[in-house]
Amino acid sequence: MSDNNNAQGQLDFDYIVVGAGSAGCLLANRLSADPANRVLLIEAGGRDNYHWIHIPVGYLYCIDNPRTDWRFRTEPDPGLNGRSLIYPRGKTLGGCSSINGMLYIRGQARDYNHWAEVTGEPAWRWDNCLPDFMRHEDHYRLDDGGDADPEHKNYHGHGGEWRIERQRLKWKVLEDFADACVEAGIPRTRDFNRGDNEGVDYFEVNQRSGWRWNTSKAFLRTAEKRPNLTLWHSTHVMALEMSAGEKPRCTGVRVERPGEGELTANASREVILSAGAIGSPQLLQLSGIGPADLLREHDIPVVADLPGVGENLQDHLQIRSVYKVRGAKTLNTMANSLTGKARIGLEYLIKRSGPMSMAPSQLCLFTRSSEEYKHANIEYHVQP
Ligand SMILES: Cc1cc2nc3c(=O)[nH]c(=O)nc-3n(C[C@H](O)[C@H](O)[C@H](O)COP(=O)(O)OP(=O)(O)OC[C@H]3O[C@@H](n4cnc5c(N)ncnc54)[C@H](O)[C@@H]3O)c2cc1C
Repeated sequence: MSDNNNAQGQLDFDYIVVGAGSAGCLLANRLSADPANRVLLIEAGGRDNYHWIHIPVGYLYCIDNPRTDWRFRTEPDPGLNGRSLIYPRGKTLGGCSSINGMLYIRGQARDYNHWAEVTGEPAWRWDNCLPDFMRHEDHYRLDDGGDADPEHKNYHGHGGEWRIERQRLKWKVLEDFADACVEAGIPRTRDFNRGDNEGVDYFEVNQRSGWRWNTSKAFLRTAEKRPNLTLWHSTHVMALEMSAGEKPRCTGVRVERPGEGELTANASREVILSAGAIGSPQLLQLSGIGPADLLREHDIPVVADLPGVGENLQDHLQIRSVYKVRGAKTLNTMANSLTGKARIGLEYLIKRSGPMSMAPSQLCLFTRSSEEYKHANIEYHVQP
């Protein structure tokens, strides 16, 4: 891979991938696996060489940090008593996978089947997506061949780039919570990722040996030596270049590069927009693809009037309920003194375990809010 931060005259490619986040790193890897493809991967953020990206607890220092986060704010929301929230979005190689919670949850089969139904695209069906998930997985429960649970092989892969591990902790308070769920009729699940995620258990995480496993490590490093993959990081894509005529085509991208100003890179085959849930619709709108009235308001010439672009974002807001517990080991009891903090640091240094290796949530519970639901419709995160 040529990681140049100057264009060196080369501006013509077969494929241009916009955004080196979760999707972009994987796509750049797969496309450049064919040496005949000249692939350009463009990322607005810098390299993922900030130590807090890689130490799991570091998400606390990456969120709202200009080195790793776009630092978006929502508009004040009447539904949130007029509050404006911080809206983290990764801005570095790996994108959100460099700052996220590392929790490995695929979603429910019925979600995928619903997408297939509403889009009319059968590729979205759970059964059709499952082989793709399995192909890129490296699941710890198959490290020893997976004999302990032969069914696991029907849902998970081994030897792929995307590492999944168990969390490196087991606390009594979490076990007690899980036992209480079982008493209440909620089963202990073996796996949240088999299509029906109802149950309680520890989250599995995208980590390797106590370090965050982001998509840059997983998918870019392996592609690094390929001469047909070019990476431009710290490079902002300003707009898509669209051809004129009745059926406009995207032919490339206009970028702003440090020290070089504006350039146009051309794609003879495809431009792949993987700039995330905020970045992708924003780029489409800036390129004249979106609700015509809105575009005109901003003096953007309309290429295609598509009212859905930039609308209907759904996200998973959480309600935080806090309870006091006595006589239990929690993060608070461990971190409320200098010696406690030193012990936490030492544990991570020596064993790569303990609170510094922790994802933001440890235990997960999916259940139904009432009997009338056939599938889980509510999720709890337990964070003692
Ligand atoms: C704080 C947080 C916690 C999360 N926790 C979890 C979790 O525990 N488990 C889970 O499964 N999911 C989690 N998610 C969600 C998950 O990380 C995202 O859904 C996923 O990473 C999105 O991947 P993406 O490729 O669509 O976008 P991103 O990973 O956001 O990638 C988009 C990339 O495009 C770049 N980009 C954007 N605009 C431009 C531009 N104009 N020019 C150049 N580059 C651009 C961005 O900098 C970014 O690197 C979390 C997300 C956040 C923010």
